[in-house]
Amino acid sequence: MKCPYCEREMQKGYIPTDNIPAQWLPNEKRQSLFKLKYSKDCKKIVSENTAFGMHAIAYYCGDCGIVLLNEER
Ligand SMILES: [Zn+2]
Repeated sequence: MKCPYCEREMQKGYIPTDNIPAQWLPNEKRQSLFKLKYSKDCKKIVSENTAFGMHAIAYYCGDCGIVLLNEER
């Protein structure tokens, strides 16, 4: 994936999310989440289930210092 700011190639990695599915929620929907559940108001983030648990796939640009996550579609 190319960085949207500097257009250099981003490094693929992940953000650990323990056993909570990776998701984005708007500020006005703050709530605690039960494990293994998506909130009904969430945007699902592309994630992987591995031997080390569930994690969100993320891309990092070291030049700009940004991390990007993709929505599941
Ligand atoms: Zn960049």
